Amino acid sequence: MVKKRIVSVLLAGALVAGMGLQVNVTVKADDLQDAQNKASQQQSALDAAQAEKDQLVAQLDGIVKDMEQTQADIEAKQEEIAKKADELDAAKIDENNQYESMKLRIQYMYENGNGQFLETLLESKSIAEFLSNAEYINQISEYDRNMLVEFQDIVDKVEEQQQELEKENAELEEMQTNLQTQQTELQTLVDSKSSEIASLESELSETNAKISQLQAAAAEQARLQEEAQNPGKFTPVDDYTPSGGTGRLQNPCPAAYISSEFGGRQSPGGIGSTNHKGRDYAAASGTPIFAAAAGTVTTVANNSVRGNYVIINHGDIATLYQHCSTIGVSVGQSVGAGQNIATVGSTGASTGPHLHFEVHVGGMPVDPRLYL
Ligand SMILES: [Zn+2]
Repeated sequence: MVKKRIVSVLLAGALVAGMGLQVNVTVKADDLQDAQNKASQQQSALDAAQAEKDQLVAQLDGIVKDMEQTQADIEAKQEEIAKKADELDAAKIDENNQYESMKLRIQYMYENGNGQFLETLLESKSIAEFLSNAEYINQISEYDRNMLVEFQDIVDKVEEQQQELEKENAELEEMQTNLQTQQTELQTLVDSKSSEIASLESELSETNAKISQLQAAAAEQARLQEEAQNPGKFTPVDDYTPSGGTGRLQNPCPAAYISSEFGGRQSPGGIGSTNHKGRDYAAASGTPIFAAAAGTVTTVANNSVRGNYVIINHGDIATLYQHCSTIGVSVGQSVGAGQNIATVGSTGASTGPHLHFEVHVGGMPVDPRLYL
């Protein structure tokens, strides 16, 4: 009911505005085009931002994979370093053992072996044996020295390898730090792209909402314009509230629109009556027509004005149903209120499919609204 009032106000405005309505519709069409262009631009921006984000995410994935690889490399390197540390420990133990046993031998030779040392030499039975023994003693100390140097070399070498590994590890750690920095930077870019996308999506959805509104407004304006040109055509029968009608008769064609009321009017299509004796219900051909009240069928006939028509007698009043395409009752038949008696057509003097409905009192047509 509220909606109907708004429509009426708009319609009144449209009728007064006249040409203004036409201009208004054109402006709305431009607004709609503008909104559609805007939506298309926003969609492009959104697609571009999404593509950029996809690219950034792909880069980020690459960085994360590199980080995983570097982390694996670091772990392997640290394992090598740990092994090298064990190796160094072992080498240092070897070095130390050699040093200790060498010290013991020297100490033994000096403390207990000095005599023996000399004895060994002096017991030599020849110069050759003496030289051989001296050489032997010399060799023992040389062996100790060589062994010690050798163990020291091993320790140095392992320490060198360990330093090399530490250096490699430091490089890997630095690489990982760089990757982490890149990851943080990329993540920031991805985040900002995501929020850009969210705001673009929200703008696009606003524009789409506006397009829907404009389309609805344009449709409503077109409807109002058509209604302004065809008064009454679009008033749904169900919306019509009879003013002062007795309610004795029921709606003979509920699936229709009231296209013309009883009374004076312009001749529709130049062939309709100017003094309209009934009420017109515009509906598609074949739409059912119902008896407005219980009664007896008194006429089923056809002529060039009424087309196929039916008259039902209700005692003090009668109802007429004209321009029918088919009729399903016959003269003398009793019908109940709301019984399907015929279908809508455009037979006789008619500009289009409709039911021309008349109510007669004492043989004279009256406004059907008095009884509806
Ligand atoms: Zn009519």
